[in-house]
Amino acid sequence: MPAPQCASCNKARAALRRPRSGQALCGACFCAAFEAEVLHTVVAGRLLPPGAVVAVGASGGKDSTVLAHVLRELAPRLDISLHLVAVDEGIGGYRDAALAAVRRQAARWELPLTVVAYADLFGGWTMDAVARSTAGSGRSRSCCTFCGVLRRRALEEGARLVGATHVVTGHNADDMAETVLMNFLRGDAGRLARGGGLGSPGEGGALPRCRPLQLASQKEVVLYAHFRRLDYFSEECVYAPEAFRGHARDLLKMLEAARPSAVLDLVHSAERLALAPAARPPPPGACSRCGALASRALCQACALLDGLNRGRPRLAIGKGRRGLDEEGPPREPQPSRPPTSQSVPDF
Ligand code: SF4
Ligand code: ZN
Repeated sequence: MPAPQCASCNKARAALRRPRSGQALCGACFCAAFEAEVLHTVVAGRLLPPGAVVAVGASGGKDSTVLAHVLRELAPRLDISLHLVAVDEGIGGYRDAALAAVRRQAARWELPLTVVAYADLFGGWTMDAVARSTAGSGRSRSCCTFCGVLRRRALEEGARLVGATHVVTGHNADDMAETVLMNFLRGDAGRLARGGGLGSPGEGGALPRCRPLQLASQKEVVLYAHFRRLDYFSEECVYAPEAFRGHARDLLKMLEAARPSAVLDLVHSAERLALAPAARPPPPGACSRCGALASRALCQACALLDGLNRGRPRLAIGKGRRGLDEEGPPREPQPSRPPTSQSVPDF
């Protein structure tokens, strides 16, 4: 059966059906619609004011690649400037290739790039060293929790280094829905209540952060990368299969098959949640070591580094005395498989 005409331009043949709406579009009209939706997210949410110097967390994966590309297209209209900031976690056999992809993007798009490394920022600790240290401690399955906390700090440091006023990350709707689901599964009401919205305004002196792709589905991010022919890194991190997030992802896929709106419904549910006064966590103070926002004496990053340096790796973040909050942080833009004939439907 021949492909229908594009429902937007009525000229070209449609190349895809939008996963959520079912609308048949050609590649050019789909990309224009995707960019317009991100623009709307940024403008309606007042995420990036004119004149903002924006540090884009760049991992080389599809999400941050699409984010950087879309923001570069929108930069003149938004009156913002962009700076790519990549974090080298020190993961042998993985991060070097991903960073090579970021360097190619920076060169092609003529964007400044700064790379910050865990080893330099955290007293020689790399993720590989953290994984070795936690092996056998019962915490080796929690690499992503350590990594997420440290990367948040590293990205903040990198953004300050380049004089950024705002930080953006490439989390998409699926990432956010997984996080909401994980927080429900852990019964972590505090994180559920804090996790809504499109970002954080910059409490405690931190730079404001936002997620302009938060309402875009993972499928559409992949489609955009495909139709714009973006070059991105698509291997999975060696530690990813151990993460609890994988279970939330599988569950979400099942939910989405039964109810296609499940992903966005979960994202919006976090925005509408309100904690009963008695369940609200105390207002955060300042870390006694680094001054970052902290709900205890030490912030999450300092507590993790403290445990590692004492030879007692611990996840002293999150929930009460147990200090367990495993696999918790939202995934930074993760590489995924390149589009396949199944993920890029054509007629
Ligand atoms: Fe870090 Fe992501 Fe690898 Fe987990 S999967 S260790 S968060 S880079
Ligand atoms: Zn601290």
